[in-house]
This record gives sequence, structure tokens and C-alpha cells, in this order.
Amino acid sequence: MRGDMSVVRLWLVQLLVNFLWSVMFFALRSPLAGLITLLMLDVLVFTYIIYAAARSSIAAWLFAPYFIWLLFATYLNGYVYRFNSSSVEVSRATAATTDKFTPNKSQVAMNYSIPQLRYADDVLMPAMSSETIEYHYGKHFQTYVDNLNRLVVGTPYEGMNVENIVLRAEEGPLFNNAAQVYNHALFFDELTPSQTPMPVRLEQRIIRDFGSVESFWERFSMAAASLFGSGWTWLVEDRDGELSIISTSNADTPLRYGYSPLLTIDVWEHAYYIDYRNRRAEFIKNFRNIIDWERVDNRLKKDVV
Ligand code: MN
Repeated sequence: MRGDMSVVRLWLVQLLVNFLWSVMFFALRSPLAGLITLLMLDVLVFTYIIYAAARSSIAAWLFAPYFIWLLFATYLNGYVYRFNSSSVEVSRATAATTDKFTPNKSQVAMNYSIPQLRYADDVLMPAMSSETIEYHYGKHFQTYVDNLNRLVVGTPYEGMNVENIVLRAEEGPLFNNAAQVYNHALFFDELTPSQTPMPVRLEQRIIRDFGSVESFWERFSMAAASLFGSGWTWLVEDRDGELSIISTSNADTPLRYGYSPLLTIDVWEHAYYIDYRNRRAEFIKNFRNIIDWERVDNRLKKDVV
């Protein structure tokens, strides 16, 4: 009788640990805590089977399918932990796991997607035509996203968010495409057809660090106009909250140098050639009229004046 009770107790304990694993993995989305709990559960159920077998072999055999299922769950949980280092979207992890068994291009391509525009494609005229948006957003940006999805497969960066890839990847095609995805997401997010005045907080910071809004704009547009070749000009905030203007070549991004980006202008030819041909300065001048200053202000990290 005493022996029977301890079998029941063991069974109840494993039920509790199983529930704990569900909470860790599905609710808290922590693959590491899930894996540890699951390994504990494996040991517990194995002990239960050994214990039960000593009393009734049928009772032990009944638990064999459950134990096999647990081992499979351990493998899947381990897989998710190995390939998704930080917090995990379970849906994505499941898709990645399925890919391993049945390679399916459409599932891989779902990993990174192009963010929706917050405005219609014909409302930024005359600064930016719908044809420019069709090509710049619809084709160039989309190509960087497609390339990123293709290049990330099988690398340690699979499943990481774009910002982390940009911070960690070595220079090369994967970094270039991830950085272009990051840069373009910022660029298309900061535009608006209905401009409102610059928020006071941002205005004060610009005046503090550049003297006046006009002198900031003069320096920003000068930097953008004189950037040689393809690249981006940025208004950035450093770790102490000081604002400055920097330019980066090709896909490079201020994130790599410890700055947080506030405003960026894309001066690759594909950003303006349809509307302005070679007149980059005119594009920069008109770009000023479609900046969403609220959006830029929202990107400030430090509240210092
Ligand atoms: Mn571009």
C-alpha cells in the first residue's frame, strides 16, 4: 500500500513538472528554462517507469509512448534553444523546425517581411513620386528583405531580429542586406504627407547641439549632398544624449558605432533618380518637407536638455 502511494505521488509530480514546462516554453517563451524543465521531466518519467515496472509491467508499458513523446519534445525544445538565442516567437520556431524536415521556400521567406507603409504611395508628391515608391520600397527594399531571408538560413543569426544581425554579423552579403533592411525600415517609417511642427523636445536638443534648426539643416543637407557614391546621412544620438550628423557608405549604419539613429536620408541613386535624375541636392531640399518630426522625436532615447 505504501509503495502504491509513492507511485501515485511520482505520477502527480511529473504531471506538475509537465505543466511547468508548458508555462516556461509557451507562456514565458523561454526555450532554456523549458529545456531544463523538460530534462527534469524525462528523468522523472523514466524513474516512474522503472518504479512501476517493479510492481506491474503493464503499468510501465503504458507509459512508454508518453516517454517517447517526451524525448521528441526534448529534441524540438533543444532545437528551438539552439537556433533562437534570445526570446522566441513560438510560431517562427515551429516553422523553422518544420523546415528542417521538409524544406519549403515559402516558410523560410516568412521570417523577415517588409513593414507596411503608413501612407499611400501617391501622397508624398512632389517630393517623392509613386513611381519612386513603387521601385524604391516595392523592389529595392523588397529585394534586401528577400536576400536577407535567403542568406540567413543555416547561419547562427537565423531567427535573430534584424538589429541584432546588424550588430553581430561580419561584413559581407548577410550584413549588407540586413543593414539595408534596417536602414530602409527607418527611412520609410519617418516620412509623412502631412507634416506637423517639430516637437519642442527635439527642437531644443537640435538648438543645443547645432545652434539652430536652420544651421542643423544646412549641415545635414551639406553632408548628404557631398557624400561620395552610395550611402546614408544621419542625425544620431550618442550614449550621452548628444546629437550629431554622420554619413555612412553603402549599407553601413550608425548602429555599429554605438549611435541611435534619429533621422536618415537615403542618397543611393535609386532613392531619387526617377524623380530628380542627377539632382541630388533638389531631392534633399524636398525631402525636408516630408519628414515626420514626431516620429524622429519618438526615437530620442535620452531625456536630457
Ligand atoms: Mn534605398
